[in-house]
Amino acid sequence: MDEQSTKAKGGPGSPEYKDLSLPDLLDMFPDDQAAMEWLEGNVWPDGRKCPRCGYGYTCTTKHPSMPYYCSECDRRFSVKIGTVMEHSKISYRSWAIATYLLATRPKGISSTRLGRDLGISQSSAWFLLHRLRGVWRTLAGPDLMAGAR
Ligand SMILES: [Zn+2]
Repeated sequence: MDEQSTKAKGGPGSPEYKDLSLPDLLDMFPDDQAAMEWLEGNVWPDGRKCPRCGYGYTCTTKHPSMPYYCSECDRRFSVKIGTVMEHSKISYRSWAIATYLLATRPKGISSTRLGRDLGISQSSAWFLLHRLRGVWRTLAGPDLMAGAR
């Protein structure tokens, strides 16, 4: 990662991130629900919309992993669809904490360390870091990093 890209919008070093202590971070993401809501706020800063067609009047469902439904597409979706989180079984809480840690400590995290910190395997941590770094490198697609407070 070069110096230029780390200063890009929403990436590490951007002013909307502040360095939280570990207790603060755990308070911020006490469970998967809180982490999911934070991620939703990042992916959909202007309100929830269908990741497939962009329809803005979607409703909620009782489905455990696909909590929203788009009547235009007649399909369910979650905040993971269309983002770097799609097709991963890593919990929302792990994504949220890793996103925050990586954003505030971009040079100080290895997959081994992150795996231990999150209680996931080193290979899952590597996958997660790789995907998140990809977001910063390209800044393409839904900007997962935007709007973090
Ligand atoms: Zn749709």
